Amino acid sequence: MHIIIFGAPGVGKGTQAKILSEKLNIRHISTGDILREAVKNQTELGMKAKSIVENGKLVPDDIMALLIKEAVTSKDSSNGFILDGFPRTLNQAQILEPILEEIGINDLIFIQIKADDDKIIERLSGRRVCSNCNFIANIKLLKDQNRCPNCGLENTFVKRKDDDEEVVKRRLEVYNSTTLPVLEFYKGKVSLIVVDGMKSIDTVSNQIMQELDSIGN
Ligand code: AMP
Repeated sequence: MHIIIFGAPGVGKGTQAKILSEKLNIRHISTGDILREAVKNQTELGMKAKSIVENGKLVPDDIMALLIKEAVTSKDSSNGFILDGFPRTLNQAQILEPILEEIGINDLIFIQIKADDDKIIERLSGRRVCSNCNFIANIKLLKDQNRCPNCGLENTFVKRKDDDEEVVKRRLEVYNSTTLPVLEFYKGKVSLIVVDGMKSIDTVSNQIMQELDSIGN
């Protein structure tokens, strides 16, 4: 199965993509995670991307094109994949088309998660990421704020620099002006699932699984 998970920053794409990746046994390709890892490891890509990512702007399409081609054509993606954070511009959607065509992928499913901006800002202000295992949690909902419930390590939660309120507002602007047109590009071309991201994590993932089942049948 080949999925694009789409929506504004903070809508729950990463959380749902992780769940789906485990349930469907397909690779979760998060371009944001790949870029943050590159920044952490100070690779050439990381050096180019650091200030762009931290300021909530978009990494240029030519850089993203190389990154995505490598990710979708790699052996790890042979069972299928979920793209989380790509495509984010109309041009990226156009770049992806021939890459998928070349490797014979024609069963793309597009999942859109929707939520209100107020909810997104509230969620991102409490979002923390485990620096050991990348587990995403809302600090306000954790019983033990010092221990990651996924890997069990202590004091590993960090706030992403781009989750600061000013940067979040910029990311939402970029999403509305530059990323939303990607939805129009896929409408009518691929199977489309729309879910309400204001609901609980379980409700959203159950709805996605049900809709995927009905597409498969
Ligand atoms: P995310 O984790 O998906 O919110 O991505 C974090 C940041 O990584 C974004 O704000 C961008 O700076 C960068 N980024 C991730 N995916 C892309 C993409 N497809 N195109 C351009 N920049 C991206």
